[in-house]
Order: sequence, then structure tokens, then C-alpha cells
Amino acid sequence: MSRPAVCNRRGALTALAMLAIAGCGGSSDGAPHWNYDNEGPEHWADLDTDFATCRAGHAQSPIDLPETAETQPADHIDIDYRPVSAATLINNGHAVQVNVPANSGNRIIVDGASFALTQYHFHLPSEHTVAGSGTAMELHLVHTDHTGRFAVLAVLLRAQDAPTALSAVLANAPAKPGTTRTVGTIDPRALLPDDLAQFRYEGSLTTPPCTEGVAWIVLRQPGAVSTADVERYRTLFPHSNRPTQPRHDRPIILVGN
Ligand SMILES: [Zn+2]
Repeated sequence: MSRPAVCNRRGALTALAMLAIAGCGGSSDGAPHWNYDNEGPEHWADLDTDFATCRAGHAQSPIDLPETAETQPADHIDIDYRPVSAATLINNGHAVQVNVPANSGNRIIVDGASFALTQYHFHLPSEHTVAGSGTAMELHLVHTDHTGRFAVLAVLLRAQDAPTALSAVLANAPAKPGTTRTVGTIDPRALLPDDLAQFRYEGSLTTPPCTEGVAWIVLRQPGAVSTADVERYRTLFPHSNRPTQPRHDRPIILVGN
């Protein structure tokens, strides 16, 4: 996932203000620069002491998910999504991101706790893999609870010829970093596949500062993205995936519908 966490280094920005800041990985606000190329993922920990967890952490994301994980009949998350009428589309310099207003009512329930949807964004190619195989892109729906803890619902995206529900966003994505655009009504429900079986594990942000304690929910069934949208995204961000990280001894649960 990606979030403007580096913007918070100066202190008391509200979550809303953080979401509104564009291109916060750049040098204009004094935050350390990071990217996927010459200062790529293996160097993130060298850029700033705040990024030390990117190397020292033992519960990092993304990871390779095992096809044969144990299926559990209980403990799936509940997804409570509805249309959003005032979303903002932004090129934040690392990804195309849709910021969702705090009062939109979109949320997921994870182990009894409510996490509000704050934004969703994309990676190319996918960050998570299943049995070693990735997909064209990955969608991260980022949620926070009242304590600031993160839960990310991830959908692997397979390329297909026809346009998809994502086209309205991806085809209108601003090409220039730091640029925002308002979008019409979007419905996050349209972004999910029919089968909501989900891998669950504890991991981290996949961008600096690689903070741990993130609840990951990766849907087993991929969603769809059009080939044209993938190619356009590639012109904006040629590659934006952190490589898979060691699983160590973390449990991974495959939860049925
Ligand atoms: Zn992400």
C-alpha cells in the first residue's frame, strides 16, 4: 500500500490534511525522496532513519501467498461499501490514488473493529503473488480505525480487453505528479470480484516508512483491469511494486465467503 506517511514527520497534520497532500515523497516539503528506481526498495532504509523498518522489520509486505492455505469458515471480514459522490483523483508521484471523503460511510469490519475507507490506489505489476505468480496490477483499498491502525483490502487485477469499472478512474488519472481532479460518483462495490474468499495476514505498509501492524486482506479471486488502462498506467508509473518480502513464521489464513 501507499500512504503519505512521510508527510507526518513535521508533526500534527490531521489525517484529512495528510490525505490531501500531493507528492509528499518529493523534495518540496523536505521529506526524503524515495522511488522504485535508483533509490529503489532495497535502499529505502538508507534514505532516512524513519525508514529503518523497511530493512529491520520481520513482518513486511507484500508477500507470496500459498495457494494451499488452510480454509477457515469463520473470521472473514465484512465489507460495507456504498457509492461515493465527492471523491478526488490524484497523481501523488508514486501512484494514482482516489481519496474518499471521511463521511462516505464506506468501511470494513475486521475482527469486530470498524475501519473506514480513506483512499484506494494502484501498483503495477501486482505486489502480492500467489504461488509465485503475480498479475498486471494490484488495487489497495486503505482503511483506518479510530486509533489510526491500518487495514488494507487488496485485489489482484488481471488484464482483459474490455473496459472495467476502474476505467473511469484510470483513464482520467492526471499525468502530472501533484495534480488532482474530481471524479463523478464511484462505487467501490464495483471494484470487487464476486468471490470474496480472502487471504488474511499481518504485515506492513509496502512503501516507506514500511510501518508494521497492518491487517492485510487479499482477495483470492482477481478482479479485472483493461489492457488499455494497464498500458496507460505504465506510461505514468513504469513499475511501482515492492518485491515480495520474507514471510518468516507469520500465519496466513484463507477465509471462505
Ligand atoms: Zn499500496
